Amino acid sequence: MTTPPAPNWHERAAALAIDGRAVIAGERRAAVTGETFECRSPIDGRLLAAVARGRGEDVDAAVAAARAAFEDRRWAGKPPAARKKVLQRWVEGILAARDELALLETLDMGKPIRDALAVDVPLAARCLGWYAEAADKLYGETAPTGDDALALITREPVGVVGAIVPWNYPMLMASWKLGPALAAGNSVVLKPSEKSPLTALRLADLALEAGIPPGVLNVVPGYGHEAGEALALHMDVDALGFTGSTRTGRRMLEYAGRSNLKRVYNELGGKSAFVVFADADVARAARTAAGSMFFNQGESCNAPSRVLVHESVADAFVEGVLAQAPRWQPGDPLDAATSLGAIVDETQLATVLRYIAAGHDEGARCVAGGRRVRESSGGFFVEPTVFDGVRNDMTIAREEIFGPVLSVIRFHDEAEAVRLANDSAYGLQAAVWTDNVHRAHRVARALRAGTVHVNQYDEDDITVPFGGVKQSGNGRDKSLHAFDKVTELKTTWLRIAPAA
Ligand code: NAD
Repeated sequence: MTTPPAPNWHERAAALAIDGRAVIAGERRAAVTGETFECRSPIDGRLLAAVARGRGEDVDAAVAAARAAFEDRRWAGKPPAARKKVLQRWVEGILAARDELALLETLDMGKPIRDALAVDVPLAARCLGWYAEAADKLYGETAPTGDDALALITREPVGVVGAIVPWNYPMLMASWKLGPALAAGNSVVLKPSEKSPLTALRLADLALEAGIPPGVLNVVPGYGHEAGEALALHMDVDALGFTGSTRTGRRMLEYAGRSNLKRVYNELGGKSAFVVFADADVARAARTAAGSMFFNQGESCNAPSRVLVHESVADAFVEGVLAQAPRWQPGDPLDAATSLGAIVDETQLATVLRYIAAGHDEGARCVAGGRRVRESSGGFFVEPTVFDGVRNDMTIAREEIFGPVLSVIRFHDEAEAVRLANDSAYGLQAAVWTDNVHRAHRVARALRAGTVHVNQYDEDDITVPFGGVKQSGNGRDKSLHAFDKVTELKTTWLRIAPAA
């Protein structure tokens, strides 16, 4: 048996025909104004598509379609087992379109095709499949009342769910919102990032092909201050799931206050602390930190961007990270061997380079990387960058960079490590590396973060909640807990009369 030749992703990319229109009420639609914006690839600047520039009128149409679909119960009224079947068909369609979706994701936001194929598409499919499977396993409760009454506590879909998502894992972040919302019977209006709208639009096509009724899943591409703001301010959106920066998350709360008090769930930025004690497996910790930091070009909300290392093993740790650097050199994202792709756009590239300059200016020592590379490709590539001698009050330790920049901060003892780790506005994730089981539990309890990893990082599964504390947000995506955001608890009291 001969193995088929490896796909030529450049040829496939050249042959792609991309439809940039919105999906509203079950059909592809241009923006009401007819306006579009250019969707260009960060890999080489090529024009991928003219994408509908959704504004208030488009959002109004999408919300009206979602409301109509919800009110006539074409989806919410289906038996959960029937919704499950349709959602499972959708997942089959997604997996069948794996290559196309992965290619769109890579072209649109610059990640290596290898990761889009191995991570983004399968994890999105797993997420949607998991919620499909859960659709007919959500039970209500009966309350422990007296003999004269029966109190039923049931979960009902909230109605119209708005979802606004970022560009770093476009399909996966959309799936984290869509899975529970659709499985519970809601209708959704999704606003993808203007930097990466393409896979969301294809997901909606595939949903329609699978039999999700028109109006149940609408996708309105556009800018944040136009389509995003209109959706967040909409009087007929019942709940809003937002994933993005802390700055925009603040606005979501304001929009809710200025409109209909819709419930807002924020999944925001991070500056996650990765704490390495002297008794840890330092070589493995270094390998893991480098991998988790440089994966996805460092554009991960939970990237371990603040590494706190005990002073006695800090040199060995930094050496271990530097030994990983060759594995993480930027390359052509359409080459299956590449592990570090392009930064999403020129604005983000400038942001990353500005932070690197701030690191130098404030006295941190750049021991690897730090430069833009592959400029002649027309794309936006930055070397994996490591700063040693960072202090926790430096800008690069306080602010989220969202690029491949790792900062090493040295600490003296456990109390200092915990104090430094918690001295951050963020609280998304954290890690503790130690061979001492008492310290592992003690420090894990003391760290203020939504998730704490012990002697590993990035272990992840749809079965566990994902979200932060402090200014990393309040919502939890994934797991059965995500249903709390898209369902209402309803109490129904029945009087039970005594026998006559
Ligand atoms: P962003 O806040 O700039 O944009 C996110 C989304 O909000 C986009 O769709 C954008 O168009 C929209 N938006 C922007 N301004 C808006 C406004 N005024 N009104 C309404 N919508 C608006 O964030 P980003 O740069 O796309 O994403 C990166 C951020 O996302 C990082 O901070 C990262 O940590 C965070 N993130 C968090 C998680 C998590 O689960 N906690 C996951 C992924 C990314």
